[in-house]
Parts: sequence; structure tokens; C-alpha cells
Amino acid sequence: MATEQRDYYQVLGVDREATPDAIKKAYFKLAGTYHPDVKGTGSDEKFREVQTAYDVLSDAQKRARYNQYGTAEESYGGFQPGTDPLADLFDGIFGGGNRTRRSGVPMPVRGDDLRHDVTMTLEEAVLGVEKTVRFQRWESCNDCEGSGAKTGTKAETCPQCQGSGQTFTQKNMFIGTFTQAQTCSRCRGTGKMIASPCPTCTGMGRVRKMRERSIKIPAGVDTDMRMPLRGEGDAGERGGPAGDVYLVFDVEEHDVFKRDGTDLYCQVPISFPQAALGATINVPLIDGTEELKVPEGTQSGHQFTLRGQGVPEVHGRGKGDLHVLLQVDVPRKLTSEQRELLKQFAATLGEEHEHKGLFGKLFGHG
Ligand SMILES: [Zn+2]
Ligand SMILES: [Zn+2]
Repeated sequence: MATEQRDYYQVLGVDREATPDAIKKAYFKLAGTYHPDVKGTGSDEKFREVQTAYDVLSDAQKRARYNQYGTAEESYGGFQPGTDPLADLFDGIFGGGNRTRRSGVPMPVRGDDLRHDVTMTLEEAVLGVEKTVRFQRWESCNDCEGSGAKTGTKAETCPQCQGSGQTFTQKNMFIGTFTQAQTCSRCRGTGKMIASPCPTCTGMGRVRKMRERSIKIPAGVDTDMRMPLRGEGDAGERGGPAGDVYLVFDVEEHDVFKRDGTDLYCQVPISFPQAALGATINVPLIDGTEELKVPEGTQSGHQFTLRGQGVPEVHGRGKGDLHVLLQVDVPRKLTSEQRELLKQFAATLGEEHEHKGLFGKLFGHG
């Protein structure tokens, strides 16, 4: 991948201001010359170079990016700092919108991208986890090495298009003669005819296989975040590169914690005496507990924040907080002794209410 890259405009022999039409023309000329099936001047490497250059320059977005950055690659590889797995960059990639095939010329076709959903618990998302993922994909057939032809036989060059994958018709119009290219009907644009297909892949050159991989998922992922596995998608055709797999995360709801970005929230009950007198209580963390000092006279609904006890930021830039909401538990049943004591307590407040009224006044607005 990291081989030296020639300037795409040079490769196609056009200048930087070339119109899409001029680029297309230059490409067809070169592709015809360097196509690997063409005798004499055919060259796989040269053809691929032309192909890559055209792929970039024929796409307005890629061309703009190339002009600006000198590369058409979007730099969203993995979870490196500075990249955002949430970015919408991946949208629209699913479903194989990325094929490089643009005309009847039998050119390498990149394999499709695949999506694989990964469900995980909140604990796994917060702490990071290694998961085994299994997915179906197309792989190049081993028996025929992807050619689609039965062992011992070879795919023949299509006699109708001589392997170019397209046929031409000339049209005379009053402003000149035009040549129109069409996908060859005999070989459906592949340029090849297979007399005896490989029985393993029925001539397709690819077979469906189950792939299993162990993946380290970093701490901090959230629902709908995506992680690309480069080159793990469907095998390409005619020497094209494999597609990618996008893991799409789904983090389950948690019984105790609610999550908002990198912050966690939970409710912790404390008793009325604890709230009134002050106490040290245990609050739950995602991986244990921590002591929290509740000062005397703490009101129901008061929120404490434990800094750094939330979710790590997925790029490793710090951690969120845990917000603990205290809820004072009103006893539902009292013994007669407790009832008597509470009445005495109420009396000290100068109130003659029943205990119901007392709690109602103390906590009703909590
Ligand atoms: Zn095969
Ligand atoms: Zn043909």
C-alpha cells in the first residue's frame, strides 16, 4: 500500500484543469493500451496505475481531496487520535456503493464493505473488551485461485470483444462520427469465457465463508459508533482489493447506570437518619464501589459528582464523571415504637401533624 505514488494527472497525461470529459477520454485510451489482456503492450501494473488515477480523478469529491491533500484517502483508519469514529464519513458506504467499475472495461472490482453489529454491556463499553466476531463474507476460491475455471482448464478470451469486455458501434451524426462503447453481451463485460466452470464456486471465482476474528474493542465506545476492519470485507473480483468490515456497536441499557456521552448517572437511596445526621455510604461504580461522605442535612434529590468515574473518551482524552443522585427513602412501614419516636420528633419541630403530614412536608418537594 505504501508504495510510491505517481501524480494521477501525470499518469493519465492530462493537466490539472482537465474537464471530466478529457479525463474520461485519456483514461479510455490508456486503459485500452495497457489492459493486461491486450497482447504486446498489456501490463498489469501500468493498468492498475491508470485505473487508480482514473478512479480518483473521475470522482469530483476524491479529485478535490486529492488536489488539496495530495491523496484521495480519507484518514479515518481506526481509533487513532484525531479521528472520529462517529463521523458520518461512513454513511452510505454500506451496500457496496464503492465499486470501482465504471464502464464495460473488465477492470478489477473492489469487494463490498460489510456491516457487522456488535452488542455489548455497558461494563464492556466502559472498560473495553476483547470480542470474537463471526461474519459471512465472499472469499477468493482456493480451488481455481479465483479464476472461476475448473482445475486444468483456463478461462478463454471472449471472442466477441477480444477480452476488452466492451463492443463498439460507430454512429454517424451530422457533426461527426462517434464511437459508442457497450458492455459485451457475450461475456457480460468480463472479457472472459469459462467453458468448464470450477465446481467449488460454480465459476464465480468466489465462495461464501464464515470468518472469525478476535477484536480488541477500546474503552469508551457507544451505540452507533463504528470501527472499520480494513480489508476484512468481501474479496475483490479480477484482482481488485477486498472491501472493509464496519463493526457497529450497540451498548445495552443498564439496570443501575444511565449514560450520556462520557457521563454516567445513578440514583442511590439513603435513609432519613443518614440524610439528617450525615453518613458515609457506598455508591456503585461500573467496576466496584466507592465511599461517599454525605454531610449532615443532605436533601433528597441532591446530586454528588465523582470526577473521572464516568466513561473514558474513546480516543483516550480523559474520562467523564459519575453523577450520584441521592434519594431519601421514606419508610413505608413503621413499628409502633418508631411511630412514637417520630411523633416525638415531630413535636420538637412544633408540629402536631400525623407522620404522613410530617414526611409530606419534609420530602414532598424532594
Ligand atoms: Zn473456484
Ligand atoms: Zn466479451
